[in-house]
Amino acid sequence: MPARRWRLRVALAALAVALAGGLAWQRALPGRDDTFVTPAADAAEPRFPASFLWGVATAGTQIEVGQASDWAAFERDVLAHGRFAAGTALGTTVPGHIRDFGRWSAQVRAAKTGFDTRHAADLAQAAAMGINAFRISIEWARLFPRAGMAQPSSAGIAYYRQLLAQMRRNHITPLVTLFHYVSPEWFFAPDATGRRGWERADAMEHWQRYVTAVAENFVPDVTLWCTLNEPMVSLYNGYVEGSYPPLEQRADIAAAAEVYAGLLRAHAIAYRTLHAVAAARHADISVGIAQNINAFAPLRNGAPLDRLLARYVDQGWNWDFPDAIASGRLRIANTAIDREIPGLAGSQDFIGINYYMRVYVRGDVFHPDAPQILLHDPQAPAEPRNDLGWTVYPHGLYTTLARAAARYGKPVYILENGTADAADDDRGRQRYLAAHVREMWLALHQEKVDLRGYFHWSYIDNFEWTEGFDARFGLVAVDYEHDFKRTPRPSAGLYAAIIGAGGWTADLARRYPDAVP
Ligand code: BGC
Repeated sequence: MPARRWRLRVALAALAVALAGGLAWQRALPGRDDTFVTPAADAAEPRFPASFLWGVATAGTQIEVGQASDWAAFERDVLAHGRFAAGTALGTTVPGHIRDFGRWSAQVRAAKTGFDTRHAADLAQAAAMGINAFRISIEWARLFPRAGMAQPSSAGIAYYRQLLAQMRRNHITPLVTLFHYVSPEWFFAPDATGRRGWERADAMEHWQRYVTAVAENFVPDVTLWCTLNEPMVSLYNGYVEGSYPPLEQRADIAAAAEVYAGLLRAHAIAYRTLHAVAAARHADISVGIAQNINAFAPLRNGAPLDRLLARYVDQGWNWDFPDAIASGRLRIANTAIDREIPGLAGSQDFIGINYYMRVYVRGDVFHPDAPQILLHDPQAPAEPRNDLGWTVYPHGLYTTLARAAARYGKPVYILENGTADAADDDRGRQRYLAAHVREMWLALHQEKVDLRGYFHWSYIDNFEWTEGFDARFGLVAVDYEHDFKRTPRPSAGLYAAIIGAGGWTADLARRYPDAVP
């Protein structure tokens, strides 16, 4: 059926639904909930279990020296063509650009935060704050920088060995990500059939070699593993929006179904390989992914199409990928795609959640297949937003945790949560941290979520992908103009106090009035 006729039919059907069944639909579909902070009796003092992991999260490409990766190739290209224009405000970077990248010295662009040479001090400082877990990534391109390598680089292995040894010395539990958006550059060279990256015929052989090297070298020194970071972001940004390598702009996620299937297969392979090595070594490990979950809400409560599409986007973005891991089948809503992925079913020991914000969905009856996605409600200027324009919505963490726990019945980790706040007073971050800690306490306490740990994004300011260096996510500030000097922000003190108290308490609310949610 020609696309235009198809669209017209869907538009007419949606219009009929909007007119005829408006009220009934409205009742059946979840509406917009403007509770920003979960109400609670708050009778009990929030204390987390003694075994709780109070962590911070980072990723190699954002804090360490650049590797021979697809991302580094993108950076070179951006520099060569001066693609730094990005609108005027943070959060408005256009695809193909890295905001203000040319403004920074070659040293900053290459070393990002200088973590490679400063991590001993960083980890000691984190431990002094009471942080007992640290999420890093082991970069594929650091272990296999060149095509055709049968064994990993010994310098790469040595780097991670001493990094993990520093963590051990500081009584910090590592949690390691395998794929945080970035692959070796050679992986994206076309194969004999012209396919690149996850679509190469031999993609899984290469991935298997890397995963085997990681498992053999680091199991069981590392017991907590995250195979993939935010696969939906990787798919959308890389293949639809075109803002991350390989910068493709396909019609939709379904047009990247081979990549989708590739990521699921990669997860299954990593899960099985890590567990096989652990079993041979009589070790106990836990493996999952980090899923980016947004609190999608219909923009207009009175518009059935907004409600319908918010539910549709919620399913496709938030749950399709972890559902596929649970069922073993890749299914993409509203398409005929439904296929089995070998070894996938049941391959998650925990549910890892990256939660940042609320996102609004607005439908258009004439283009019902292309909902508008808004990071804030233009009619609600008083809604709290961060420096990137993201709507701060603590209650969404509560509902997300409750839904994830009920859906999969597994332990849950918050593998990322944090905010971009460059203001000197740091109040936005303090409020964000306190409010989200309170929400996760309520989820644990009221919803009985088996929540095992919280990893704040991020420990130090870092390179925020296409937004460059001005989005400040760190508990600790990095002075890029003065040799990456570290200065803890007030929220670092607040996090230390929360950890010390075992949660967000009334006493802390008195001591940190700026943070009261
Ligand atoms: C990513 C991080 C990123 C953070 C803040 C997450 O989507 O995993 O790499 O820096 O959000 O944007």
